[in-house]
Amino acid sequence: MKVNPELIDEIKKYGAFDISACFNCGNCTAVCPLSKEDASFPRKLIRAGHVGMEEKIASSIEPWHCYYCGECSATCPREAQPGEYMMVLRRYLIAKYDITGLSSIFYKTGWLQSWLALGLLAAFYWLYSSYTGDFGALAGKIELAFPVYVTIALGGYVLNMYRYAVVKPLGGIKASLKPAHIYETFVHGFTQKNFNGCEETDLLRWVSHLLVMSGYVLTLLISNLHLLSPLDKHYTAFGPVSLLVWYAGLAIIVGGGSMSLRRVFKNAESSKFSHPSDWLFVITMFLIGASLLVTHYLNVVYGPAHPLLAKVYRLNIAIETVWILLIVPFTKWIHIFFRPLAVYFQYVRKEAEAGTAFTLQLGGSK
Ligand code: SF4
Ligand code: SF4
Repeated sequence: MKVNPELIDEIKKYGAFDISACFNCGNCTAVCPLSKEDASFPRKLIRAGHVGMEEKIASSIEPWHCYYCGECSATCPREAQPGEYMMVLRRYLIAKYDITGLSSIFYKTGWLQSWLALGLLAAFYWLYSSYTGDFGALAGKIELAFPVYVTIALGGYVLNMYRYAVVKPLGGIKASLKPAHIYETFVHGFTQKNFNGCEETDLLRWVSHLLVMSGYVLTLLISNLHLLSPLDKHYTAFGPVSLLVWYAGLAIIVGGGSMSLRRVFKNAESSKFSHPSDWLFVITMFLIGASLLVTHYLNVVYGPAHPLLAKVYRLNIAIETVWILLIVPFTKWIHIFFRPLAVYFQYVRKEAEAGTAFTLQLGGSK
């Protein structure tokens, strides 16, 4: 296997940790709940980073199973921050899977990402505010482009992750067709059940994470399925669409608020280190949730003709557009797809080891 002596320096550009302090004691492996299946995790990835095993790191799926319980960091006698190392590896892998190279630029330059996002946000807001024609038609064009954009961006990511995690290490195109594996993949995607695999279950963090994720997905569905037309219709406070909107907005605010407070007070291992992209994520999240709630409140209470409503709604659409174009595909949000995929790829690897994986071969399959 080829060795890259500069690998650890490259990984360090994605976040703060001090793996050079590691003296290989194995405490982190002993406490890590993931070590049930792999006796040397997370230590084996620390070692791989140390010695420059780039392919091993690129093909690893363990960082996606790790939900940063922080038990490894809390027990590390050298304060090498193995939990943060896993977080940094997730950023590194996102950049690795991304064919555009933008993730790498954003993560490495930190605040550039924030300023670029805010600049784009301002530009979109200006565009929407000064647009005097048919606002609905303009929004419609952007929404039309959304599925195409997401398919290309997400498709590229998924294929590249598959290439690194399955095709390269297993030497071919392999898959698991077992319904139980596909079912488990979806269960992990919707419930993030590995979150509670740690010895001390952090229920608040799991609930907050679930609220934010469900609130976001719902917000995007509300916008892109045209469930909400606040400039044309007058909604009642507790109709079906209103209930979805209240839930989406409040879930983002409550879940995001709880996660932000943890970052501010750094009262858990998982919130001790914050990358600029984490704050960008939180700020954008609040803006989306708050503008959605205010838009709907104005509609329900005053009707669609209220002059402030159109402005707040435009702001909401502008932020969501920046979010979709810039933040969702190139930063941590994309992990929502990688975590369940990692569960599925783990099954594929196990089946490949057992010789039972579906294998696509030139001229046929078995
Ligand atoms: S507990 Fe710390 S020093 Fe020990 S192997 Fe893990 S990272 Fe290294
Ligand atoms: S943060 Fe938790 S799950 Fe992740 S490597 Fe450390 S002990 Fe394991």
